[in-house]
Amino acid sequence: MMRPCYPVAELLGDGIGPELSRAVRGLADALPIRLEFRPVDLSLEGRRSRGAAIYDEAVEVIESCRVALKHPTVTAEESPNAVLRRRLNLSVIHRPVSTIPGVPTNFTRPLDLDIVRIATGGTYDDPGRPIGEDGAVSLRIVERQPVREAARYAFNFARKTGRRVTSSSKYTIQRATDGLFERVVKEVAQLAPEVPHNVELFDALLAKIILTPERYQIILVLNEYGDFLSDMACGLAGSLGIGASANLGFDSQAVVRVALFDAAHGTAPDIAGQNKANPTAIFLALAMLLNQLGELTIGEALKQTTLDLLLEGVRTRDLGGSETTETFTRAVADELRRRL
Ligand code: NAD
Repeated sequence: MMRPCYPVAELLGDGIGPELSRAVRGLADALPIRLEFRPVDLSLEGRRSRGAAIYDEAVEVIESCRVALKHPTVTAEESPNAVLRRRLNLSVIHRPVSTIPGVPTNFTRPLDLDIVRIATGGTYDDPGRPIGEDGAVSLRIVERQPVREAARYAFNFARKTGRRVTSSSKYTIQRATDGLFERVVKEVAQLAPEVPHNVELFDALLAKIILTPERYQIILVLNEYGDFLSDMACGLAGSLGIGASANLGFDSQAVVRVALFDAAHGTAPDIAGQNKANPTAIFLALAMLLNQLGELTIGEALKQTTLDLLLEGVRTRDLGGSETTETFTRAVADELRRRL
C-alpha cells in the first residue's frame, strides 16, 4: 500500500541545526507515512546574503506546505522567529510543558500544562519611549481578533483532549486591556459549555500552580504572561531545553491555516558539529506537527517512544547519558518501527 505523503517546510538554521535536521530525516524514515521535506536555508549567512528574499521564499514554502519544522537560528540583526510570526500572521503559541519522567527536577510534583499564549501585543509590541529625563511609557495592546483565535484554539483543544481551560490575567487592575481579554474568552467559552473553564488572577495563578499543579491543564493567557509562565513551568519541569512549541496562524473561520513547530532551545554553538546535540525537543516538535497533520497515532507514538527511552536511561550527555545525536536517533527510530 502507498504510504500517505505530506509536504513539510523545513527551515534550516545555525549551530546544531544541521545535525538536528539529519536526526529528523533519520527518524522520518521510520514512520509509516512519508514526509516530503522542502528545505529553506535560514542560516545567518544565508539571511545576510539574501536579505528579505530568504523570508519571501520561506513564507512561500510554508504557506504552500501549511506545516513547517524550524531548526534553531542565531538571533543577530533580527529574530527570524519574530519575522516569521509577523510575515505569516502567527497569532497564537501553544507550548506544552510537562514533567518528563527520568529528567531530574527540583520540583517533585507532576506537572502537565498546555500553555496557549497570544503571540502578539501585550506590552511586547511597543518598546516604549522616555518622557523627559525621569519617566518612560509604553503601550499595552490587546485586540479582540487574536484573543478570539487563541480562545477558540484553546477550547477546541480542550474539547478534543477532555481537558479544562483556565484563563488568567490581571483584569481587576488592567481593567480595559485584561478586561477585554476575559470578556472575549467568556464569549468563546459560552459556545463550548461542555468545556470546564475558570478564571484566575495571574499573580495568584503562579503560586497556585506551584501549590496544586494537578488542578491546571490548559492555561490561556496574553503575550507577556505566557512568556513568564512558560519559563517558570519549564523550570519546574526541569526541561528548559527540551520543550517544543507550535506557532499558529488562522483563517477567517478560525481554522489553523499555517503551523510552525520548533524547539525551545537555541543553536548551542558550544557543541555544534560534535554529534552531542540532544534531538528530544525537535522530535517533540515533529510529534506536534504529525498531530496537526491528523496523524495522531503516529504523533503520540513518537512522543511516547522518545519519553520512554529517556526514562529507560537512553539519554544524550546533557541529560547525564552517553548517547550521541546519532545513536539516540537510531534508538528512537528502531523502537518506533517496532511499535508502529
Ligand atoms: P542555547 O539554547 O543555544 O544554549 C544554552 C546551553 O544549552 C548551551 O550549553 C548548549 O550547549 C545547551 N543546549 C542547547 N540546546 C541543546 C541541545 N539540543 N542538546 C544539548 N545541549 C543543548 O542558548 P544560547 O547559548 O543562549 O543561544 C545561542 C544562540 O541561539 C543565540 O544566537 C540565540 O539568539 C539563539 N537562539 C535561537 C532560538 C531559536 O531559534 N528558536 C532560541 C533560543 C536561542
